[in-house]
Amino acid sequence: MFYADTHTHTRFSHDATEGGSHIDSCEAALSKGLDYIAFTEHYDVDDIAAGRYRETDLVSAHEGAVTAIKKYEGRLKAVWGIELGDAPMQPEMSDRLLGKWDFGFVIGSLHSSRRDHDFFNIDFSAMSDDYLKLIWYEYLEDLISMAKWALGGGKPKVDTIAHITYPCRYYVQHGRAELLDMARAREAFAELFGIIIHGGIALECNTSGLRQPIGRTLPDEDTLRLYRSMGGELITIGSDAHRARDIGAGIAETTDMLVRTGFKYITVFENRQPHMMPVG
Ligand SMILES: [Zn+2]
Ligand SMILES: [Zn+2]
Repeated sequence: MFYADTHTHTRFSHDATEGGSHIDSCEAALSKGLDYIAFTEHYDVDDIAAGRYRETDLVSAHEGAVTAIKKYEGRLKAVWGIELGDAPMQPEMSDRLLGKWDFGFVIGSLHSSRRDHDFFNIDFSAMSDDYLKLIWYEYLEDLISMAKWALGGGKPKVDTIAHITYPCRYYVQHGRAELLDMARAREAFAELFGIIIHGGIALECNTSGLRQPIGRTLPDEDTLRLYRSMGGELITIGSDAHRARDIGAGIAETTDMLVRTGFKYITVFENRQPHMMPVG
């Protein structure tokens, strides 16, 4: 079986307080039996523009990635990528970033709704039910805006859309999961899938939820089934590890789950080109 972890962070990501080096990531990947790893540091344009997050040191991160890519050549395919966060809120800054760096793989993700901070930073105990319902709806709308932005020029600006149920992780963690309107989410996901399938952008299955109270992948099997039933074939799997020991976590069981769900390939990117690797 081909195992790939397409979503990992090193110490160059602002929130990877226990993050290691690119070499640590590759060693962990080999010890977990992976064939492929992508280095995808955070670059949350809106938070960086507002000064909420420090600017990601891409010069040093790139240096570390290139050294590791060469060192492990022939044993492990490693790719220099990025997790571009909240792009539709800062489209010009996002375009500049993508023009400046020669990424082999670009993840598009959203960590906040347009009116608030990263869901990770929201004080759920201070928020009303109505407000938490509203920002979930807005998050769903913003996912669609991100896909439209990504397809607004010739070729797609992102290769995969990550963890589309990201807020659910925090609603569950803070005991507010009953506020999540999942029927509305399903409608929004169907619209999103229509756009990305037509545009040639992949969907990510993020395994971080398996290590957290939510206890399932982001998105879950049911949602992945909807994507597959609509003709979705391009699927990336990422652990979203923020420390070396989480690299590869949940990848094997999630690959099995995807096979069960009807996927015949998992997708990895190199030089911004998709490669469909047979599984099952
Ligand atoms: Zn993310
Ligand atoms: Zn991430």
